[in-house]
Amino acid sequence: MNRTGAVLLSWMPSISKNFAGKRLCATLPSGSPNPYQKEKVKCILCSHNVELDYKNSRLLQQFVSSFSGRVYDRHITGLCSHQHEKLVKTIALSRRAGYMPIFVKDPKYLRDAKLFDPMKPIRSHSFA
Ligand SMILES: [Zn+2]
Repeated sequence: MNRTGAVLLSWMPSISKNFAGKRLCATLPSGSPNPYQKEKVKCILCSHNVELDYKNSRLLQQFVSSFSGRVYDRHITGLCSHQHEKLVKTIALSRRAGYMPIFVKDPKYLRDAKLFDPMKPIRSHSFA
């Protein structure tokens, strides 16, 4: 009764007295893990245990914008800071080694108006 949780929950028979301890509910066996504990959130590279390699350009291309050539930020990819830092270094190494194209469009030109729409041609064509 010295803890505040024990005092608050002492009148409920189904809940054990130790509020902050392992056993929250009296119906659970003592060795079972806490069902209310949240799972650790891992990024996609950590959860699948993927090792980044500068020669694996098809994997690295998925984290690079195809329009500007810039690496997507963490809020888009959902990577942890450790993997993101590793990814940026690996992409730079891959570009220097010639596995990935170096195509950087200046961001101020990204919002330029389109001159034409290739999906809606004026006349039909066979450029596919
Ligand atoms: Zn991670």
